Amino acid sequence: MIQPEATVVGYEGPYFWCPQICDGTQPPEHVIPEALGAPDGAVLSDVCKGCNHGTLAGLDQALVASLDIVRWMAGVPNKRGEPSGIATRSNLFAENTKDEGRVAYVNMGPGDVTLPSGRVLKAPTRAPNSVAANIKVEGREAEINGRAMMLHHPDCSRGLHKIAVESIALTVGKTSGWAAGREAARDPSLENARRYVMEGGAPRIVFYAADGPEPAYRHALRLPFKGPEGHVVEFLLCGIRFTVDLTPAQTRVPYLKKCFEALRGNTGWTWLPILDHVA
Ligand SMILES: [Zn+2]
Repeated sequence: MIQPEATVVGYEGPYFWCPQICDGTQPPEHVIPEALGAPDGAVLSDVCKGCNHGTLAGLDQALVASLDIVRWMAGVPNKRGEPSGIATRSNLFAENTKDEGRVAYVNMGPGDVTLPSGRVLKAPTRAPNSVAANIKVEGREAEINGRAMMLHHPDCSRGLHKIAVESIALTVGKTSGWAAGREAARDPSLENARRYVMEGGAPRIVFYAADGPEPAYRHALRLPFKGPEGHVVEFLLCGIRFTVDLTPAQTRVPYLKKCFEALRGNTGWTWLPILDHVA
């Protein structure tokens, strides 16, 4: 359990993500999106309302859309405390119901389908948010298989970079004090990663890996690794282990690839953006 970050009385420096000066009225910024079941204490107190409810909220939504199936399987409530469902896939709708537990509807095609509730499930396409499903009948049994992409939202990598940069402030702050955390998170080597979070641009790589053979749905933030070129941050989000090279030109990527290969071989890990290496 992460303890809440203390409110800093009298702080008059710049906000975390923009050069405006803090006025002390900003809402808490959740390092891990609330809708994914954020730990209470993992918040920053110096992110302005404009950034928080604008760009950063959009990145949180990209992460939620990318991890919606994992969240639904784990039965995590959304930030209003309601059971989470899946509503961002074109041909799949899922909910957690009181009577029947987890229920999912998949349209396997060929045409659109209207559910009893009136919701339309589109015919499957090759788009990343469309789920591929097939049914195989063998004698008296039918087997249904589905394949859904995860981490497919185009802003997913930016959202993960947001978590990585904010986690530096939070974790260094917990161990060495608030000011040290902010200084670490404002290191000049983070400039490119910060610009990528706020403005986008050419996609940056993020590695991800299974957290053990039976991963549990949980989040964990760790202290960053700091080398001469900059930071590498590792964290656990929804039970998935992410590794983010925050150096200006991601010069640690080849080394990190070698580490993953040495430790895990060819399975159980890969990287974003997905389109680079999925045919
Ligand atoms: Zn701002």
